[in-house]
Amino acid sequence: MSESGYVGRFAPSPTGRLHMGSLVAAVASWCDARYHGGRWLVRMEDLDPPREVPGAADDILRTLESFGLHWDDEVVFQSRRHEHYLAALQELHEQGRVFPCACSRKELSGQSVYPGHCRDGLSPGRTGRSERFSFHAGTWSWQDAVQGAQVFDAKLLGDFVVRRADGLWAYQLAVVVDDIAQGVNAIVRGADLLDSTPRQLALRAALAPEFPVSHWAHLPILVNAEDQKLSKQTLAAPIDPEQGGSHLLSALEILGQPVEDLRGEDQGNLEELLNRAAARWDIRKVPMGPIHWQGEGQGAGRA
Ligand SMILES: [Zn+2]
Repeated sequence: MSESGYVGRFAPSPTGRLHMGSLVAAVASWCDARYHGGRWLVRMEDLDPPREVPGAADDILRTLESFGLHWDDEVVFQSRRHEHYLAALQELHEQGRVFPCACSRKELSGQSVYPGHCRDGLSPGRTGRSERFSFHAGTWSWQDAVQGAQVFDAKLLGDFVVRRADGLWAYQLAVVVDDIAQGVNAIVRGADLLDSTPRQLALRAALAPEFPVSHWAHLPILVNAEDQKLSKQTLAAPIDPEQGGSHLLSALEILGQPVEDLRGEDQGNLEELLNRAAARWDIRKVPMGPIHWQGEGQGAGRA
């Protein structure tokens, strides 16, 4: 395939095995990248050791390979990139965009938006615990290939944490620093991250104004019968590489892509199935969701 300049990615957290929700994100981002003649990178978001499961990163990578979801370039592990996040934080400090926050979880309990206590400096005798990005004015908008026009008001989201009180790097900062470093300009991921996107637009504009993300697509989330998002916490069933063909067809069906003619194909040849799906990939067919997903055999229905 020709080099088109498109660089996409899939960025799982190693908190367990892949489930159908994460397979949908992997397949969609892979198909979109290949359809555009672009590159597809994988990044392991392993910044939160207490939530991680030993062996999960290897398991996820082996599962992707077994599906024929081959990545370009080396896998990036966020746990090895501390100094890059520190440099970005330093740069944001120099721009006056971040401030230390002394507020404890208890002090902020019951508030859905940070009230700005420490924005203009810490009160005497208080010490900073976390670092927050100043985000309380202006609107951020983008045209989403699946969810349509999006507009977010920063003051409804509020100043957000970029370095946590426990010293760990916050998701928002690490994602943006890594997307810039990996040359990512196309982001295809779950719609549960929609309200992260305005925060990431702002960080990206601060850290790499000359290199914006040009293509955004937020995929339908899968929910169970109780309308909970499929996740490790809701005990979503891990996908079984032995059932690769039917999982792959399910993922494509969830994504609104035609699968009928693929059912008759050799379902053991996942690379061939994927290549055919990518060649006729049509992101306009992807539903906004959410989608009820009970497991194989029960099909997908709009929630
Ligand atoms: Zn504070």
